Amino acid sequence: MGTQGTYSIAVLPGDGIGPEVTEQAVHVLQAIAQQYGHSFHFQYGLVGLAAIEAEGKAISDETLAVCQGSDAILFGAVGGAQPGAAVKPEEALFRLRKGLQFFANLRPVRPSPAMLDASSIKPEILQGVDLIVVRELTGGLYYGHLEPGVPGKPSEIRETPQGYEAIDTLLYTEAEIERIVRVAFDLARERRKKVTSVDKANVLSSSVLWRRVAERVSKDYPDVAFEHLLVDACAMHLIRRPASFDVIVTENLFGDILTDEASMLAGSMGMLPSASLGTRRTEHGIFGLYEPIHGSAPDIAGQNKANPIAAILTAAMLLRHSLGLKEEAATIEAAVEQCIQAGYRTEDLREEGKEILGTKEMGQRIAEKVVALAGSHTV
Ligand code: NAD
Repeated sequence: MGTQGTYSIAVLPGDGIGPEVTEQAVHVLQAIAQQYGHSFHFQYGLVGLAAIEAEGKAISDETLAVCQGSDAILFGAVGGAQPGAAVKPEEALFRLRKGLQFFANLRPVRPSPAMLDASSIKPEILQGVDLIVVRELTGGLYYGHLEPGVPGKPSEIRETPQGYEAIDTLLYTEAEIERIVRVAFDLARERRKKVTSVDKANVLSSSVLWRRVAERVSKDYPDVAFEHLLVDACAMHLIRRPASFDVIVTENLFGDILTDEASMLAGSMGMLPSASLGTRRTEHGIFGLYEPIHGSAPDIAGQNKANPIAAILTAAMLLRHSLGLKEEAATIEAAVEQCIQAGYRTEDLREEGKEILGTKEMGQRIAEKVVALAGSHTV
């Protein structure tokens, strides 16, 4: 048995289906705590519409401070109907990402072997797909200056005698590239030891620097296979030979587009977790923000219909990356896979001959499976 520990987790359920799926992720974490003898200290905070109503901000300074003091943050989803609202619920996410410097966004895609038919891609192409996209999250085109006239990194629409023109700035420093590329190589060492760095070095200066830095960093990881790929070729190969990828690392905009493309390999939004990692190391791992990739899904909120698997797999990522609990993370992932193999589905995955469960019931089955799988660890 591994060491038993005490960990603090900030829990921000948010809006819509956020609280429903987060509740199930917390149940599964409680099952892990019970089986492995850990103590998880959950501290709840409001974000999104709930926080705007109660505290006037999408996330209060107090909640941010609680997050900062924790080992990891478990986030549900924010957003929903808010006609004419001055404060946007999504500001909670931007404040968290920027304020806590979460620069590395990790999105694993590993379609369940029992669900290959749910994707729009042919099952034989999906066989063996197990990849992770590492997207740079705090630099590049998204962080130009939005106020006209601020020098340095312009991002604006301006009027000229010939008509309007617009400009965005794609700026990366060597240090920003190096730290994200290192995240990718460190991850690859714990996986199948292959990194694909994606750029547009045939056209963009920022990509030429990206390639140069990635090449230099790769020399520190002689045990990891390394390749460069142009972003257009990568978009094609993600559909043509997705099983050949292990870790893909890329800049902000390319990552935004490629992660949505890659998510379709897994069939449903309700299945996919994500992690955003920062610069701070905790006693146990890297401080991070963990959230399912889906939103608050107001169309199905409050009906016990949401698929909690993305949130539960998000909790597994939290254990692996921020708490250093790899075996426990693998137990959750195995429990999810076995429930899918046993034929349990939520409404979004409806299939002929499968048993349809509600959010709570699916969470309950997965927690029970965790207990069964980790049985030998009971303290
Ligand atoms: P969405 O992800 O909330 O929903 C898209 C579709 O997928 C809906 O039909 C929904 O019912 C379905 N869906 C999503 N998650 C599901 C799950 N776990 N189980 C079953 N079905 C699921 O995206 P949207 O409808 O474009 O946005 C709704 C709100 O969420 C908006 O306010 C948007 O701004 C916000 N949003 C928030 C985040 C976030 O918090 N990180 C991300 C994306 C969107």
